[in-house]
Amino acid sequence: MIRQNIRKYLDSIPNGVELVAVSKFHPQEAILSAYNEGQRIFGESRANEFVDKAKSLPDDIKWHFIGHLQTNKVRLILPHVSLIHSIDSEKLLTLVNNEAKRINRVVDVLLQIHVAQEDTKYGFVPEELISLIKSERTISLKNVQIRGIMGMASNTDDTNRIERDFIAIKKTFDTLKALPNIGDNFSIISMGMSDDYLLAIKHGSNMVRIGSSIFGCRY
Ligand SMILES: *Cc1c(COP(=O)(O)O)cnc(C)c1O
Repeated sequence: MIRQNIRKYLDSIPNGVELVAVSKFHPQEAILSAYNEGQRIFGESRANEFVDKAKSLPDDIKWHFIGHLQTNKVRLILPHVSLIHSIDSEKLLTLVNNEAKRINRVVDVLLQIHVAQEDTKYGFVPEELISLIKSERTISLKNVQIRGIMGMASNTDDTNRIERDFIAIKKTFDTLKALPNIGDNFSIISMGMSDDYLLAIKHGSNMVRIGSSIFGCRY
């Protein structure tokens, strides 16, 4: 089933949109099934599970960290991560920079934006993102490369609300992209999951994170 599912996405997602196969809580064999069908980008949300999988699965997998990242787990994941989607505080951004510097690499990151109606979700509101990107302190961080933003729509069946959230994420991306200190590398809009990825793509997503409709239910 996983092979058919991943094939369906690889064949149907438009050019220019990257597929992150969200494999959290699924076993290594599930990842290998998708890998054998050609998928190379996998997303995980728990640090220990992330590292276990990264150490034992093929080297050419690009591992994305998509969940809330606790500061005490940064050192653990950093050698293995290719993109962190979930930078949700200035403290975390600085810590990732300092840790990356320590191991002599530059790490690609996305800033997590909060637009959803739930107030439990992590992330920056749009105004905070603008001042963060403009700040001299951020500009001085040389071991993180801010590649774009990641957002989630409200957890609701209300399609209008979901679309409004995606429009707000895209609008913020465009505002940030127009700032003078933003370069060409700022290009990723990570939004869209199993239930809403088509709407996300319609509103400008170029990276979708799909879990349950590839790997099945996690519970
Ligand atoms: C789990 C998760 C996903 C995947 O969600 P599905 O509904 O299973 O596709 C995407 N993004 C984040 C941040 C997640 O934690």
